Amino acid sequence: MDATTDADLIAAYLAGDHGAFTKIYKRHSPILRRTARLKLYDKHACDDILQDVFFIVAKKLHDLHDPERLPQWLQQILVREVYRYNAKGLRLVATDFQSDSPSDQADVCDPHSEGALVAYEELKELLKSAAEGLGERDRMILSLLVDHGLEGNDLASDLEVLPKDLHSLVHRMREQLQKCLDAYCVAQVGRRSCPELAEILFRWSGRLDVQIRKRIVYHIEVCPICEMVRTQQRIAIADLRARPSAPPR
Ligand SMILES: [Zn+2]
Repeated sequence: MDATTDADLIAAYLAGDHGAFTKIYKRHSPILRRTARLKLYDKHACDDILQDVFFIVAKKLHDLHDPERLPQWLQQILVREVYRYNAKGLRLVATDFQSDSPSDQADVCDPHSEGALVAYEELKELLKSAAEGLGERDRMILSLLVDHGLEGNDLASDLEVLPKDLHSLVHRMREQLQKCLDAYCVAQVGRRSCPELAEILFRWSGRLDVQIRKRIVYHIEVCPICEMVRTQQRIAIADLRARPSAPPR
């Protein structure tokens, strides 16, 4: 039995020990997951929400004055995120890159600062280029979500699917979009360090399509150099996303 208290872990994390955060996650995520599963039947949605909860926790932990109350505080954040999820009907893929940064981050710094706008524009462009590597069906889902702002029953009816199947459909599209992003980012910078990738991309137009995306993704799976480039690129994107993003109005 681990005798370290929540207070110890919180203090360690706030002092810069990232391992302490992993311990907080391991200790508290099982019960939060169970609570989420009681409120939502969709396992994918629960995973997404849990991720959001700990993202918020990482940002706001310094605001928690009484560490003894960590379990209750986590439950409160979870309940609020479940509520937000239900209210929206769907977690849109685009919100990861666009306007809907969790409200809890809104006060971290000025979302209209120049840096935030640059990050927002950069992400939007990146997403647009990467999305060209999606299959037709996934591209349609993305377009209905982002360009037409459809959600919930409206989206389901446009796609001619049952509302209950919507989340896994969107989830799968997000996974594909992640692969597109990986492929696009690695293609941009990986050629210099990997001759095999350079060969695959010989005479590449610079635009992603399904064929080339699959070839790049397959290559990344078997190439340690490109796998490392992918990791670096993911970290770079996470840094961009960590900046508060607000759509220019
Ligand atoms: Zn490679």
